[in-house]
Order: sequence, then structure tokens, then C-alpha cells
Amino acid sequence: MGIGERIYKKFSKDIGIDLGTANTLVYVSGKGIVINEPSVVALNIKTKQILAIGNDAKRMVGRTPTHIVAIRPLVDGVVSDFEITEQMLKYFINKVQHGSPGFFSRPQVVVGIPSGGTDVERRAVHDAALNAGARAAFLIEEPMAAAIGARLPVQDASGSMIVDIGGGTTEIAVISLGGIVVSKSIRVAGDEMNESIIQYAREEFNLLLGVRTAEDVKITVGSAFPQDEVLETVMRGRDMISGLPKEVVVNDTQIREALTRSVRGILNAVKEAVEQTPPELVADIMTRGITLAGGGVLLRGFDKLVAKETLIPVHLCDDPLTAVVRGTGVVLEDLDNLREVLIQTEFEKVPS
Ligand code: ADP
Ligand code: MG
Repeated sequence: MGIGERIYKKFSKDIGIDLGTANTLVYVSGKGIVINEPSVVALNIKTKQILAIGNDAKRMVGRTPTHIVAIRPLVDGVVSDFEITEQMLKYFINKVQHGSPGFFSRPQVVVGIPSGGTDVERRAVHDAALNAGARAAFLIEEPMAAAIGARLPVQDASGSMIVDIGGGTTEIAVISLGGIVVSKSIRVAGDEMNESIIQYAREEFNLLLGVRTAEDVKITVGSAFPQDEVLETVMRGRDMISGLPKEVVVNDTQIREALTRSVRGILNAVKEAVEQTPPELVADIMTRGITLAGGGVLLRGFDKLVAKETLIPVHLCDDPLTAVVRGTGVVLEDLDNLREVLIQTEFEKVPS
């Protein structure tokens, strides 16, 4: 380590970011996770001005006048709106640095991004981190970061399988020797489960639900596998015929039924990934099991269902919602050793 690098290490707080479709988390070296906010931006569409980001913006969802929209720039699992994503990233980086970094304190930044993005999108995220004051920016595919966060031995000559269900995308990867051998990304995840509940309420009860209510119902009584005891909750919304408020009590069996299509979609993708995995690695996965990460895997009984259908043991990682950001933290603390797990980008800038 040169003297310059040593000075940097002393003064800078390196940053790991999980730029998720639903939530953005930020890890600061030596401190841990300091930010955990929704990936939402409130925008005035007349002036193109950004009004709020994160928690403040989420409070506006569904409550905005017509000229204000609350958007989730990464909602489809790809960086759909560069400029807004860039602003959001800058906002979070600056927030943990309490303003612009000084000359000696410019951080290194590791950002977890959905796999399958284009070069243009990756470059946009990379440049946004540099524009926000990073002295070097590194990108890592989310399932790789999740696997590292779950403490899987990604650098061994042995197969590890990770399934990360977020809001907008489910990412499935088989990893060996520091690289991704099989990868799948589908746009069926937590958001689609919410939509399924909205559709169910509409079709069965003529009940119009908001997205946040649907998500509450999913978290309160949702499941992928029959439950030992009956779970019930009240769905509150608007009657589509009378236009007046209405409540309906639903149980776990009904909601499981509503979620079947989304859950099946994810399950089929997992099975396809196993089918595409070379036999030696399948043997490793049979022994080690499939690891689940991301908020979506908290759906009751999802682990049981996957185990039953794939005949492979399944483990939920500790604290699934923070696996990716913890993974970026591990990489930050050991960049020299873990360089091979990063996305190799031609536009990577070596600190000068
Ligand atoms: P992303 O990485 O895309 O930002 P997250 O990993 O933060 O997504 O997960 C967010 C998703 O997890 C949301 O769709 C949310 O509804 C879902 N989720 C969170 N907790 C639960 C739970 N207990 N049961 C089911 N789904 C959950
Ligand atoms: Mg995620």
C-alpha cells in the first residue's frame, strides 16, 4: 500500500450500496448499515424537479396531486431512468458523507446492481458514483453480493446457488470460482405478488385495493405453503360498484391461491436454473442446499415449497433484506482478494 493509499484509508469511509428495485441500503466501512430507505423518487413532471427521495418520497405514493409523481427508477430491475437513478445514488452517497467529501476523504464505492443490465446502464451507475464524489466505483451483480452476504464460499471450486427475490426482479445464480456460471433474472417478484392480491380482490369482491394495502395483506397472511393455523386479515379498500369504503376478511388459503401464479413463475425459473447447471455443480448444491435472500423470500413457507419441488435442501439466509448490502461491505473490506467477483468494466477508473 502506497502512502497515498494509506492516507485515503485513514480518512475515507468506503461505501457499499444495494441499489434495489424496492429498497436502497448503504453500508459504511467501520460503521455498518446506515441507510435503509425505499428506492422512490418524487418528481414534479412540469418542472422536472426532484422533490423528495427515499422515505420522504414513499410517503407521497398514492397521495400526490397530478403534477407530482412518485416513481421507482429501478422498478423493472433495470436502470430505467438514468438521470433519476443518478440523482438518487448521489443523494444517498452525499447523505452518508454529510455533504461533499473533502480531498482526502473521497470514498471507494461498491454498488450492487441487478444482473442482466446493459453496458450503458452499468456505465450510468458507475459514472453516477464518480460524479457523487467517489474516487473509484466498482459494480457487483446482486446475486453475487447476496451470496457473499450470506457467507457462501463463492471463490471455492464448488457450486453455490442463490435465489434473491426482491420487489421488481428475482435473480437466480449458480456461482463457482468467483464467477457466475448460471444466471437467471425474471420480472416476477414481490411487486407482482402485490398486483396478484389487487387483482384477486377486484375479481372476487369488487374491491379496489391500494398497493400498500396489498403489500400489508401479503406480509400479514401471505404464504406459499399450507399453514398449520389459519391466518386472517381485513382488506380495506373501495367498493367498485358503490364507490364507498368496504372491508373484506380474507384468510391465508385465499391469499395463497391469489399468489399461486407468481410463486409458480419463480419456482419454474429455479428449476430451469438447476437444469442448466453442470452436473458437478448440481452435486455440490445437493449437499450445500439452495440459499434464499431478498425480502420476497420472507413469504411464509416459500423455502418449504422450493425444497419440496426441487428435492434440494433450502436455507433462508440470516436477515434476507440486508444480504446484498452486507455482501458489498465484505467486498469493500477485502477489495484486493475479492476483485474477481466484481463486474469487469472497461470503464473502471484506477485511483490516480
Ligand atoms: P429489492 O432488492 O428489489 O429492493 P428487497 O430485497 O428489499 O427488494 O425486498 C422487497 C420485497 O420484499 C417487497 O416486494 C416486499 O413486499 C417483500 N417483503 C418484505 N417483507 C416481506 C414478508 N415478510 N413477506 C413477504 N414479502 C415481503
Ligand atoms: Mg435486492
